[in-house]
Amino acid sequence: MTLDRKLTDLKGIGEKTEKLFQKIGVYTVGDILLNFPRTYVKYPDIKDPEDFFHGELTAVYGRIKTPILNKKTRSMDISIGTLYAGNTGIELIWFRSPYVRSQVHVEQDYVFYGKLLYEGGKWKLEQPKIYTYDGYVDLQRRLQPCYSLTKGLSNHLVTKTISQALCFSHSIPEYLDAEEMEQLGVCSESESIEGMHFPETMEVLERARNRQVFDEFFRFFYQMKANRSLQEEVKNEFCFEKTEVFHRTLENLPFSLTNGQNQVLKELLQDFDGDVISERMIQGDVGSGKTMLAFLAMLYHVENGYETAIMAPTEVLARQHYETFLAYKERFHLPYEVVCLTGSTKASERREIQEILNRGEGAFIIGTQALIQEKVEFKHLSLVITDEQHRFGVKQRKTISDKGENPFILVMSATPIPRSLAMILYGDMKVSVMTDLPAMRLPIKNAVMKKKERQKIWGFLRSQVKEGHQAYVICPLVEASENSEGESAVEYQKMLEESFGNEVKVGLLHGKMKPKEKNAMMESFAKGDVDVLVSTTVVEVGVNVPNATVMVIEDAHRFGLAQLHQLRGRVGRGDAQSYCIFVDGSNAKEMSKRLKVMGSSNDGFYVANEDLKLRGPGDFLGIRQSGEMNFHLADIYQDADMMKIASSFADRVLMEDAELVEGNHCYLKEYLELYASKVYTNL
Ligand code: ADP
Ligand code: MG
Repeated sequence: MTLDRKLTDLKGIGEKTEKLFQKIGVYTVGDILLNFPRTYVKYPDIKDPEDFFHGELTAVYGRIKTPILNKKTRSMDISIGTLYAGNTGIELIWFRSPYVRSQVHVEQDYVFYGKLLYEGGKWKLEQPKIYTYDGYVDLQRRLQPCYSLTKGLSNHLVTKTISQALCFSHSIPEYLDAEEMEQLGVCSESESIEGMHFPETMEVLERARNRQVFDEFFRFFYQMKANRSLQEEVKNEFCFEKTEVFHRTLENLPFSLTNGQNQVLKELLQDFDGDVISERMIQGDVGSGKTMLAFLAMLYHVENGYETAIMAPTEVLARQHYETFLAYKERFHLPYEVVCLTGSTKASERREIQEILNRGEGAFIIGTQALIQEKVEFKHLSLVITDEQHRFGVKQRKTISDKGENPFILVMSATPIPRSLAMILYGDMKVSVMTDLPAMRLPIKNAVMKKKERQKIWGFLRSQVKEGHQAYVICPLVEASENSEGESAVEYQKMLEESFGNEVKVGLLHGKMKPKEKNAMMESFAKGDVDVLVSTTVVEVGVNVPNATVMVIEDAHRFGLAQLHQLRGRVGRGDAQSYCIFVDGSNAKEMSKRLKVMGSSNDGFYVANEDLKLRGPGDFLGIRQSGEMNFHLADIYQDADMMKIASSFADRVLMEDAELVEGNHCYLKEYLELYASKVYTNL
């Protein structure tokens, strides 16, 4: 199939470039077609010198009066020239680009576009791109795609490669026929793919995105419903005779359960003692104490000799649950095994774990997906809990039942979803909602601050650390990037380290680190060896370090409200007063409005609702939505209508054409396979 072709089959792509693409998860022509832009920018209007601003990407129009000079310095070739915008001279500098000399002619007018700096009393444009006036104006009409990049891979190169690959967009299996597209109100796959990469206008982009959103929801619902329809009701043959240890533990908890926790626990026990195996979804805001519930539910099973598993979306989180469970084992004098199984568990350790499971004496198993994907055999697996991530509940259900196991399923989520949407998303699961937080907890104090108040923010961080607390700083990017202006975790960590010196230990965590490094860093932070953790949103899901009292979110305007709420939930977990500082790097009014919502409430359901109200159609550029639901492009709030359409279309296909023979449905399998191995790696 064309889509399987290697990138080196494209013109101008050699093995070196191929390697770079592989770093961002792009291996084939199909991958690159589906590697959609992270965001889009419009080239800015041309600026007059009186409006110049240091550090901004700027377009300047003016005249060249003297030829460009090429100079050799010891380290590098540079080319230098001067542009006159009226009377203001602006220095132009290029590195390793001697050819610009022949592109720029004396006594001609040009637009130069690049990063504007004010240095030594002079304005400077570094490595500017060169346009004619008309060329620039034409460019400004279009939306420019910005892709996820890695060192050595420029946006220009990605763009060029994609425009070459685009002639293969017709090979993406089209599983809808013309009539269906019309009914559903979506465009064709190939039109969508072209529009996603190179939208001429905003309307084109919206149409293109609409199809992708439909696809993404449809893939989700189709697979979920297809699995469900295969399942018959399973009789509950587990038996929970022994409850002594469970009750003793319940009486010795270090705190009393909240009403919400008590209620859900009651519902869970009813499920376990019921006639059929069931699935339940527990929705509880960040910090509502879901881990304790998971532990108690598991204990109820383990005491009766069954194996139970809790699965987290990341190793970091799995390790953390493991530590928590070990502490509980000790505290409550439990004679049961607690084991941890992740992608980085060694083979020898894995064998030991398997031996423990073979004994069939009940166990708490904590892990990541690897837990079920690797060859673990269970004796009597009776309960599987997935923490913080709905999406893998679906696939995992199938993997487990394929192994001949039929455990109770529990899915725990902190995304506050209005009930109407929850009903669609969770199909026939039972849903519990916890609305209360543990008492005694001080509400988080929020502040929205500007970038220029940085010194103040850092001063505050330092003072909190002096008092023995810890802090997070979240940055939107991993590394600095040519086409994004946000803070990068790597550079921010260096800056903080320099500013704080030895008195404060500053750590770094991001998704491009190896799992081992990530675990080690997270452990140091949990132990208190690291005071300030600079991180991308990888800490978003479920991390629990009660001693952390400050959350600083840089470029907060770049995140969706639901996600900001999740991030904020990393603090306010202990007894001390906690703070969340949203650093607003935008100048837009709407952004400030959104951040005000965050500043005024700690209630996830409220935030979700306001988010919905504040967002207009097409307001999806540059904002990354809740990571937890894990839809890549689609957003359950904003795209709620499309979600309903996709859900009923999935029903229709399964009801009316389960054999996939009508119209274009025969291409559906091929289409789903295309996505089966796709993992998104740019967090
Ligand atoms: P989440 O629901 O976000 O997963 P956690 O389970 O991580 O929240 O709990 C957050 C913190 O609250 C933990 O330190 C936990 O020990 C504590 N906690 C849980 N339940 C209670 C309770 N009923 N009273 C006081 N603290 C609690
Ligand atoms: Mg949690």
